[in-house]
Amino acid sequence: MNFNELEIIEPILKALKEKNYSAPTPIQEKAIPLVIEGKDVLGVAQTGTGKTAAFSIPIIQHIYGRIKNEKSHTKLRALIVTPTRELAIQIDDNIKEYSKHTKIYHTVIFGGVKQGKQVSELRRGIDILVATPGRLLDLMQQGFISLKDIEMFVLDEADRMLDMGFINDIRKLLKVLPRDRQSLFFSATMPPNIVALSQDILINPRRVEVTPASSTADTIQQAIYFTNKDTKKDLLVHILKDETIKQVLVFTKTKHGADKVVKHLKNKFIKSAAIHGDKAQNQRQKALTAFKSGEIRVLVATDIASRGIDINKLQHMINYDIPNEPETYVHRIGRTGRAGEEGMAISISEPEDNTFVRDIEKLIKQKIDIIEDNPYPQTEKPMTEKEKKEWNKEKQRRKQEFFANRKKPGGSQNRPKKSGSPLKGGNKTAGGNRKSNKGRRN
Ligand code: AMP
Repeated sequence: MNFNELEIIEPILKALKEKNYSAPTPIQEKAIPLVIEGKDVLGVAQTGTGKTAAFSIPIIQHIYGRIKNEKSHTKLRALIVTPTRELAIQIDDNIKEYSKHTKIYHTVIFGGVKQGKQVSELRRGIDILVATPGRLLDLMQQGFISLKDIEMFVLDEADRMLDMGFINDIRKLLKVLPRDRQSLFFSATMPPNIVALSQDILINPRRVEVTPASSTADTIQQAIYFTNKDTKKDLLVHILKDETIKQVLVFTKTKHGADKVVKHLKNKFIKSAAIHGDKAQNQRQKALTAFKSGEIRVLVATDIASRGIDINKLQHMINYDIPNEPETYVHRIGRTGRAGEEGMAISISEPEDNTFVRDIEKLIKQKIDIIEDNPYPQTEKPMTEKEKKEWNKEKQRRKQEFFANRKKPGGSQNRPKKSGSPLKGGNKTAGGNRKSNKGRRN
């Protein structure tokens, strides 16, 4: 199938040709005709499937038809709400490209930056607005945005939106959106709360599903190293010795963890940067630009910040920490092997995460290849429930002691000495330093 068969108008076809898109992706093939027909659509698709174009193209087409005979752009007719700034910028960039041969006005608004520039853009008159929920509500309350003329509404990455606690913001939006509108709802996963939300937004929707949330693209090879907690960073450096890994996206569980990894890599002269929620917008954008231009080799990200990172032809990604939710693994590895490209997803599991690896394998219904050639094999066992409880108590005690000492004048000298978790030393597997980690599944 080609784009001509989807009844897409000439100015958009021209732009797609200039982007060298030769054929629609499966989600585009399925969703575009339905949206053009005016149907509500429930799209189950992860990033990397081409879903942005799947909703942007018919929106541009619709608006083009509405404004072609109008001189001014006085009505905001389409609204796309997405959870992160990066994703918002990316959607707006895509709209810019697909609509370059139309006279459509579009802009993007997001928090974390001053509102002045965004407000002046809005004053110019906008046909399509891409927004994150907080800034959108804020500017609505200040009277800079009215949703009364919205004809098309997109809720993008709905599952992540709920994860990030935006449910109340979405509910507020739904109250002011005109009832008579076309709605498109996209989510990578469909747990019950997302299904319920979709039912509040969509009327008689057509469901379009490309890759079920539990499946990983065939083009992505998956492999895993089992190691100990304190050898992870050295193992990462070992992995990066492979020169075929030109650029890699590394995922950590926490913001602090991301910063620690970057610090370690920089010490080893590996060019890297972190991108997470504590970084200012311009720092995040700078890191992303440096990564895209090839200036840095490793971009370390947390899950939330990673949403919306769209890097063409990214071949490698590394799970430095195994995610606790198996669906997150599917999302993460979707960052590589994009749009039919080959990809390699490498995971690193510390003893405490072995159980999450099992959950992931259950979800994706396949075993991840274990890499045997591992200079830092896993020798420690995960803690037993009893040990976990004791360790948590001990952590709590150390924390209290730390803060108690801080309050005393000169207390910093009395800080408790840093010592590792009870895992260290006494809790090795029978046989001590195993040579191979084959078959380790605790
Ligand atoms: P998305 O899932 O919307 O984040 O898109 C993933 C990537 O695929 C982006 O880099 C798009 O520019 C690219 N893309 C989208 N549609 C097509 C297409 N039909 N042909 C080639 N690349 C595409």
